[in-house]
Amino acid sequence: MDFDLVITGGEVVDPGGGLLGRMDVGIQGGTIAAVGRSLPTEGVPLRLDAAGQVVTPGLFDLHTHVYWGATYWGIEPDSIAARTGVTTWLDAGTAGGYSFPGLLRHVIERSEARVFALLNVSAIGLVAPTYELSNLDYCDLALAHQIADANRDVILGIKARIDANTTRGVGLEPLRLARKLADELELPLMVHIGKAPPTLEEIFALLRAGDILTHCCTGQANRILEPDGRMKDFVRRAWDAGLILDVGHGTGSFSYEVAEQMLAAGMSPDVISSDAHQLSVQGPMFDLPTTLSKFLNLGMSLPDAIERATARPARAVRRPELATLKPGAAADVAVFALEEGAYTFRDVFMTARSARIRLVNKATIRAGKLMAHRPEFKLAPWAHLPEHQRAK
Ligand SMILES: [Zn+2]
Repeated sequence: MDFDLVITGGEVVDPGGGLLGRMDVGIQGGTIAAVGRSLPTEGVPLRLDAAGQVVTPGLFDLHTHVYWGATYWGIEPDSIAARTGVTTWLDAGTAGGYSFPGLLRHVIERSEARVFALLNVSAIGLVAPTYELSNLDYCDLALAHQIADANRDVILGIKARIDANTTRGVGLEPLRLARKLADELELPLMVHIGKAPPTLEEIFALLRAGDILTHCCTGQANRILEPDGRMKDFVRRAWDAGLILDVGHGTGSFSYEVAEQMLAAGMSPDVISSDAHQLSVQGPMFDLPTTLSKFLNLGMSLPDAIERATARPARAVRRPELATLKPGAAADVAVFALEEGAYTFRDVFMTARSARIRLVNKATIRAGKLMAHRPEFKLAPWAHLPEHQRAK
């Protein structure tokens, strides 16, 4: 077999593909050609020695904002992809019907990273920090339907941010409209939670199996746990029925208290995502490997964490062929060192936890090609972290 690239001797962790253990990964023509012990490497143009390192499918980040240059939150994905192993980015509703054509032309089609989108039910999307649903005239379902239906190859679901500011003055109506839109299109609906109103119970009444609740570890009032750490009954019922709980760390939505209560009770989130945007990439979120490292240090196993950033997000948006190393899959691969030391991680309240391991990306391969590191994108002039999160 003629490979273009072989990654040798790494510990393969591909829970979705059922591949676990020391194996070589052979790549040919942008596709995973073979995974196994001692693949032939003679004459292979590029060999990557991954001995002592972890080889995973390229990570799939289910909650990001990559519509840079046209929105408040958007960042440019490629420079981060190349140094974090995140080869697939789901833009979570940064674009709405009016602005999706620009996301497609300027970001999805031009990025080296693979980019998909959830279409915001608000036609203006996230051009500004918030209030995108507070004018119901912008919830133009006919337009959103037309755009989503014409772009099913890249629009994998619908997004609605439902909190006190995004919906100011209009209550649950945007969520009802988003529900209707997602049902008509038969696409998953991702709903963000934060500060009430609407209350969490009102929001959950409109969620269904296969929908994605993002910010599930939020420490805001709309948290999914009771004060004693039990999951709220209506949350448990929805989760048991097939609702997907996604982390979406971001700047405001990861509380160690909530995450620790969840894991202690055996309630691991289904998906671990970053909510990478202009603010959160400055810390304490930083990036997806750092977010995964937080869960590793809370006791989650490496395969469980990797599954939550590969196979599970891919399945959540009904693209199970992505984020696996099974032969025939696209050759999106990440190589990580699992470094041991004395580290400190923080949640969005700057609550600190000491840590002993961290996941550090060593190589990122997208469609069979090693992604070169490149200069970091320049943050926007408005990208200021909340006062309490600024480095002292
Ligand atoms: Zn977000």
